[in-house]
Amino acid sequence: MRAHEAGALHADIGQHGPEWLREPADVNDLLPQLWPRTVTRGSDGVLRIAGIPVTELAAEFGTPVFLLDEADLRARAAAYRDAFAAAFDGLAGADVYYAGKSFLSKAVARWIAEEGLRLDVCTGGELAVALAAGIDPALIGFHGNNKSLSELDRAISAGVGRIVLDSFDEIDRLAGLAAERGVRAPVMIRVTVGVEAHTHEYIATAHEDQKFGFSLNRGNTGAPGGAAAEAVRRVLAAPSLRLLGLHSHIGSQIYDAAGFEVSTRRVLELAAQIRAEHGIELPELDLGGGFGIAYTTQDEVFEPIEIATALAKIVEHECAAYGLAVPRVSVEPGRSISGPAACTLYEVGTVKQVELDGGATRKYVSVDGGMSDNIRTALYDASYSCTLASRASAAPPALARVVGKHCESGDIVVRDEFLPADVSPGDLIVVPGTGAYGRAMASNYNHVPRPGVVAVADGTARVIVRAETEDDLLRLDVG
Ligand SMILES: *Cc1c(COP(=O)(O)O)cnc(C)c1O
Repeated sequence: MRAHEAGALHADIGQHGPEWLREPADVNDLLPQLWPRTVTRGSDGVLRIAGIPVTELAAEFGTPVFLLDEADLRARAAAYRDAFAAAFDGLAGADVYYAGKSFLSKAVARWIAEEGLRLDVCTGGELAVALAAGIDPALIGFHGNNKSLSELDRAISAGVGRIVLDSFDEIDRLAGLAAERGVRAPVMIRVTVGVEAHTHEYIATAHEDQKFGFSLNRGNTGAPGGAAAEAVRRVLAAPSLRLLGLHSHIGSQIYDAAGFEVSTRRVLELAAQIRAEHGIELPELDLGGGFGIAYTTQDEVFEPIEIATALAKIVEHECAAYGLAVPRVSVEPGRSISGPAACTLYEVGTVKQVELDGGATRKYVSVDGGMSDNIRTALYDASYSCTLASRASAAPPALARVVGKHCESGDIVVRDEFLPADVSPGDLIVVPGTGAYGRAMASNYNHVPRPGVVAVADGTARVIVRAETEDDLLRLDVG
């Protein structure tokens, strides 16, 4: 499968765009796998989401704005719930934790809980949103490589269901806190398995030279199981900690199960070593998230049932190989639930035809947002797609680059896409797949207020995260 986030694959060939990009037969077509499921193009050519024309949404809520399809997000959550329930039925069962870092608001936290998912948070801020939404703390997992004393304290005071330990400092810190509070904190140990998921370097998190988790690498300590085995020893020696199991997260935008096969084998090898050394079998195993989604017309998708079935097979097989009882498995999908459920609506401000070397030209389409509402293009060299949303066009497809309004030439929203050649100021453009790590990573660069998030369902639209205003920015600037 193609994982084109690796920048090197973006061989830009001038006017024709990157090698992978195909000119569409009809530039007005919508590729279903890219769009929230209620998105359609009406007979008037206007894109609709949950039955509402985007022209109306732009008029009511302004642009840029994130449009979140509630039915789509719920359906994706439910598909994970059902897929993992089915695949792990007959084993020890499975839990799905939605990775809140991809996009979290009180409404989304509630939808996720209503669909039967648990919630994974990684900061005090995310924990605060989850608790404000009324999520049962027992269904919350808390990971992160540098949780503060205050964050850990809030987590154990609230009764968070699991804290994923990431360093020896943190083991000491949490053991001390839990002892002071007179509680036994449920914990997992994050293991770095030395797997490099086939994805962009900045979001591959399980190879050795990075900040997360405890390494299995024998080189670190000279002993089998490395730092991870030592972490297990220290946790088991702390009466205020209760070890639930091992945790591994190998990266993001992963398109096949091969990485999970290796990571599961390595984590279970440690589990077997733990049994030999301590005489216990750990009841839980977390395999992380990172399941890939389609961002462009050339990306493939896979369904939750495919990954669930593959993981169940891997876990069962590897447990049998080590003679271990199958633990209860959990996964933490974020992007694959929130990503495709939302899109960003922009208005075109300027269109510029720029001459390239060799006589080729590129159409630069400037929109009213940019790297402040989607940093992924600049940060990861990520690719996106987009479509003209306020009308259909009979003009031929023209290679375009959609850029933002920020003072950076790297302020690119969609590096390469075909738009109708007559795209003009005042047109609306929609970029799909922005539900994950769009609003979540948004900034106020250039003092641009962050866009709001509007949830749409059954012909109604409501704000779930209010758009910032310049007053909001000035309120923080106390002179
Ligand atoms: C980021 C992250 C996830 C979710 O990753 P996605 O690519 O959004 O699915 C899950 N678990 C951990 C530990 C993470 O850091």
